[in-house]
Amino acid sequence: MAPDVPVRVFARPRPRQEEDGYPECMEVQEGREEIWIRPETKEQTKICPADQNFVFDGVLTERATTQDLVYSRCAEKVVSTVLEGFNGTVMCYGQTGAGKTYTMSGKVGDITNLEAFHAMSEGPDRGIMQRAVEQVFKAKAQMNSGGQMGAGGVEDKGKAKGSVEVSLKMSYIEIYNDIVHDLIQEDTNSIALRKSVAGKESAASTPQMRNGASCHSVSSRDQAMELLHLGLRRRQVAAHNLNRDSSRSHAILTLYVTRGSGKRSAEAGKGGPKRGSASSDAEETIQSRLDLVDLAGSERLSKTQSSGVHQSEAQHINKSLSFLEQVVLAIGDPNRDHIPYRTCKLTQFLKESLGGNSYTVFVANVRLESSFLSETVRTCRFAQRML
Ligand code: ADP
Ligand code: MG
Repeated sequence: MAPDVPVRVFARPRPRQEEDGYPECMEVQEGREEIWIRPETKEQTKICPADQNFVFDGVLTERATTQDLVYSRCAEKVVSTVLEGFNGTVMCYGQTGAGKTYTMSGKVGDITNLEAFHAMSEGPDRGIMQRAVEQVFKAKAQMNSGGQMGAGGVEDKGKAKGSVEVSLKMSYIEIYNDIVHDLIQEDTNSIALRKSVAGKESAASTPQMRNGASCHSVSSRDQAMELLHLGLRRRQVAAHNLNRDSSRSHAILTLYVTRGSGKRSAEAGKGGPKRGSASSDAEETIQSRLDLVDLAGSERLSKTQSSGVHQSEAQHINKSLSFLEQVVLAIGDPNRDHIPYRTCKLTQFLKESLGGNSYTVFVANVRLESSFLSETVRTCRFAQRML
C-alpha cells in the first residue's frame, strides 16, 4: 500500500545535561506532540517574539526515548514500505551536536575500534542504519521462505504465494561542497583501508555504479555492517586528513532492494520512483530504494567563523538545505509540475527517493537548552514547513 501521508516530521530533543541549567525557555509537554517556546528575556524575545508552539507528527521526548522507540516510530514503516516496492527516505536535520549521527548511525565513538563498533551495532545504542539493515534481512529471510510482508512489516503467512527472492545492494556517500565522495569505492585508498579495517577483502568486490556511487551487493547483516563501518571510518579519515569536518557534509546510506519471483532477476522498473510493475506472477520484479540521510549541520556560523573555507562550506550547506526544502515543498504542492531536483548534488542524488510514490520522514534533532534557542527555533520552523 502506498503511504497515505508522503512526508512525516518528528522532533527529537537531545537529552539535556543537568549542568546546562534550568529552567529553560523551551519545553516538551508529556503526551503532546509539540515543542513550546516561552521567551522570557529580552534576548530571547528578539529571537522569538511571543510564546509559540511547534506541532509535529511526533515528539520523541528527551529521557524516555530509546533508539528502539525512535526506530519504531520514525523508520520502521518507511522500511516496510520500501520492502513492498516503494521508495523511502529518512533524514536527520538540525544543528551540529543535536544528535543526527547518533540517531542515524548510533553512538559511533572511536571508529578505529572495530570491535567496539560491532558491539555498539548490536546493542541498544545502534541507530536507524543498523536497524534498517536488520529489518531488511529479517524480511528477506521471511520472504525467501514463502512469507509476504504485510503493511506493518509483519509476516502474513495467509498471503504466501511461494518464495520471493530479495536481494540487497548498498552505497554510502558523502556530499561535501556539492561534490559527491564515495565512502566505499575501491580506489587505492579504500582498498588499503578496507584491508586494515576488515583484515580481509570484503565480498563486495565488483561494485556497480548507481547515481555516481559504487553499489555493493550484500548478502548478510554482517557484510552490511562491515561496509557501514568502512564508510564511517572513511568519513572520519577524510575529516582528519583533508581537514573536512564531518558535520559539514551530508552522508547518505542507500539500500537498494530488489524483489523478484526468482524466475527472472532482471531489473524492472529501473530508475523511477514508482513501484515496479507486475507483468505476471512468475516474472514480477520490483526494485525500490531507501535513503538514510545524515544532513550537514544546519547552524549559522558566527561572524568570526564565517571566513575563507568555512564560509564556502556554510554557503554550500545553506544552499543545499534550502534546495532540499524547495524540492519537498514542490512535491507537496499539487499545482507544481516542475520539481527542481537538479539544483544541487543532494537533491539530484535523492531524486528517486523523494516524490512520486515515496515516503519521507524528517527527524528534526534539536536541543532545548536556552542557549540553543535560536538554532532550535530555526530547525522547528524548517520542520513546520515540511509538514
Ligand atoms: P550531530 O551528528 O547532530 O552533530 P551527534 O549525533 O554527534 O550530533 O551528537 C552529539 C553527542 O551527543 C554525541 O556524543 C552523541 O553520542 C550524543 N547524543 C546525541 N543524542 C543523544 C541521545 N538522544 N542520547 C544520548 N546521547 C546522545
Ligand atoms: Mg554528525
